[in-house]
Amino acid sequence: MADTLIKVDLSKPAPSNEMVHNRWHPDIPMACWVKPGDEFILETYDWTGGFIKNNDSADDVRDIDLSTVHYLSGPVGVKGAEPGDLLVVDLLDIGAKQDSLWGFNGFFSKKNGGGFLTDHFPQAQKSIWDFHGMFTSSRHVPGVQYAGLIHPGLIGCLPDKKMLDMWNEREVDFIATQPDRVPPLANPPFAATAHLGKLTGDAKAKVAAEGARTVPPREHGGNCDIKDLSRGSKIFFPVYVDGAGLSVGDLHFSQGDGEITFCGAIEMAGWVHMRVNLIKGGMAKYGIKNPIFKPSPITPTYNDYIIFEGISVDEQGKQHYLDVHVAYRQACLNAIEYLKKFGYSGAQAYSILGTAPVQGHISGVVDIPNACATLWLPTQIFDFDINPSAAGPVKHIDGSVQMPLSPDK
Ligand code: ZN
Repeated sequence: MADTLIKVDLSKPAPSNEMVHNRWHPDIPMACWVKPGDEFILETYDWTGGFIKNNDSADDVRDIDLSTVHYLSGPVGVKGAEPGDLLVVDLLDIGAKQDSLWGFNGFFSKKNGGGFLTDHFPQAQKSIWDFHGMFTSSRHVPGVQYAGLIHPGLIGCLPDKKMLDMWNEREVDFIATQPDRVPPLANPPFAATAHLGKLTGDAKAKVAAEGARTVPPREHGGNCDIKDLSRGSKIFFPVYVDGAGLSVGDLHFSQGDGEITFCGAIEMAGWVHMRVNLIKGGMAKYGIKNPIFKPSPITPTYNDYIIFEGISVDEQGKQHYLDVHVAYRQACLNAIEYLKKFGYSGAQAYSILGTAPVQGHISGVVDIPNACATLWLPTQIFDFDINPSAAGPVKHIDGSVQMPLSPDK
């Protein structure tokens, strides 16, 4: 049996646990140490540290203080790891905690984080998803169930000081280009809610003031939210500090490409069973700047899709130049309009796109002026036939079940 090196108690607040942290900084002390070749298990909180509850109100999604996220388990020191190495991480297995067999998906209020379609869904909403072994379904989104493609939304190694300073500088400069934007362009360091694991004493204030927020993916990986980084994957991370300092959290039971709802995929507390190894000097040997990974040999098989196209012309009819962000948004909006014809609310359809094993593809980025993106909606996850036909769509969803919504205060 692999040892559980980090435990989390879901009945206690995450900031009381000194084996977790919510900022990136090279001076956060290692929570524990392992050797190359070791197998071990880390338990994790959900990304909000348990703030979002299994109930029928979206008030928690509306009221959450996003400066508190993400609660990550680690950093785990790896003996012998040095800057320039590659840390090889095998995700041997991932699961939900037995006392927490459920997850959440939601949309943040536009005034508090927003999401990919925040102009269309500006109020906080939530759906709860129950786990039945490898499958999930929701009391708030009827007519759909699917197998989980379980993965960590967030995993990566500590930055060195030079890289940390570069992150903070470029993001603070970026915020300054549009300081009053809602939602903001990025999140600067914020000391008040920094949780720095075992760090104590005088160093704490400095690290809290400098620690990078965990929301964006960066050169080290971090919050990449890649659904295919699932159990069975092998990841190769750049190492920047002695001991590497591997941290993981933000586990997802399932997610569609893009994690478009932002709060988020099907978010859950759980555990990761992993093994680490090193490729000495691997960054230079393979020309690695960002992590690379090998996918799992096991994935749910959904091989029939309806594929929605989107182009880089926005909702107001404005032309954008080869803009994949605009094009994917149009593909998602087209899928939502289609699902509404079967009786889903727009929110329920949005929740399906954010949580189900939906594929997103960049299809064309050269045919001026329009980029083309596609959204692949698996048909086999529905309890009924969603294919187009001459007879027209049948309203299988009667509207009696809705997702909780909490208007802004
Ligand atoms: Zn997440």
